Amino acid sequence: MSKIYFIDVTNRDGVQTARLGLSKLEKTMLNLYLNEMGIFQSEFGFPTTRHESAYLQANLELARMGVLRHLRLCGWIRATVKDVELAFELVPDIKHLSLSIPTSDQMIYGKFAGLKSRDDILASMVDAVDAARAHGAESICVNAEDASRTDVDFLVRFAAEGKRHGVDRFRYCDTLGYENPFTIYETAKVLAENVGMPLEMHCHGDLGMAEANSLAGARGTIDGGQDVYINTTVNGIGERAGNADMVAVLLAVTKSKGFADKYQLGRSIDLTMSWRIARFASYAFGVPIPVNQPGVGANAFAHASGIHADGVLKDPQNYELYHYDELGRGEPELVETGSEICSGEYGGIAGFKHIMGKMEVIFADAEEAKPLLELVRYANVEAQKPLVEDELLFITRYPQIAKKLLTLKPLE
Ligand SMILES: [Zn+2]
Repeated sequence: MSKIYFIDVTNRDGVQTARLGLSKLEKTMLNLYLNEMGIFQSEFGFPTTRHESAYLQANLELARMGVLRHLRLCGWIRATVKDVELAFELVPDIKHLSLSIPTSDQMIYGKFAGLKSRDDILASMVDAVDAARAHGAESICVNAEDASRTDVDFLVRFAAEGKRHGVDRFRYCDTLGYENPFTIYETAKVLAENVGMPLEMHCHGDLGMAEANSLAGARGTIDGGQDVYINTTVNGIGERAGNADMVAVLLAVTKSKGFADKYQLGRSIDLTMSWRIARFASYAFGVPIPVNQPGVGANAFAHASGIHADGVLKDPQNYELYHYDELGRGEPELVETGSEICSGEYGGIAGFKHIMGKMEVIFADAEEAKPLLELVRYANVEAQKPLVEDELLFITRYPQIAKKLLTLKPLE
């Protein structure tokens, strides 16, 4: 039986969202949390974007060091030879790539001003695949942008051409959130049956169905005989109305009526990390978690009305589908209401030693603390808000990596 895997695209689709972004350290923290959860892959950034280079290389080094053990790191670029060449010039060690190109007539004619045909799209894709292989790419996924507005015959042709050139997966992008669960099920099944390779489901929420479509697409793919890789973001952060929310899709796959009896995860995922990663992403993006967010919203386990409260007090299962501790909730939270020392870009040694001391990190002398404080200051320049404990601990544990990922050299 084919299986379900998760690919998180917060560090690519999430950060390209209007008005939102993450510092390179925040992106790294997300990779660490995703790794700890057991997520298959992080689409960790843009290898052709120069300010990403140091961050991408530092994270590949974390993988070589065994700090990112389980998580595959995949870069996202356009499916052109030019992008492939630049990606390997800037990030020579990159091993996994998503190559994206539009496939719908709307986008082929609308984006390229009538200068490209379907055959040009196929040629650009296979040339990019060949170039990536020549540079040593170990896995390649071809992304059909706007796949849901592309006729299925052309998608099959696109995927088959890719497969002939050694592509590992095909990403079905519902770029505009146009699908519904019924249509995406059928399309995913037809594609899985006809292209003979694993599919990725990439769904957006423009019609409020990103999670439902992810589930239906996954089912269609598996019914068609292939493994499926669901694309999600933390808290559903993404272009316009957002992407499929990771925690909500995980809950849907594992908890919805009868689904897990037949459709199962390919590797176990630690759901108890949900609360931690959702809270971190909310803080890092500066976007509050909606109170009614599945699993991690403030009201997800709150009850006020008499009948519900009475029912939950007698047995939580009367009104709760799953238990809060399955998501890592339930720990009391300490909020400082008196004097507080925070990290900042102009911070000094006394404050830094105090903050670290609270986490039981003690320095032998000021000389030991100074270079770490300097890194923390630089991290604050990027984040423009106090660092969280995990970020501070990461910097003290891996100062050389922190130095690399905080390095920005414009116009060099
Ligand atoms: Zn997207």
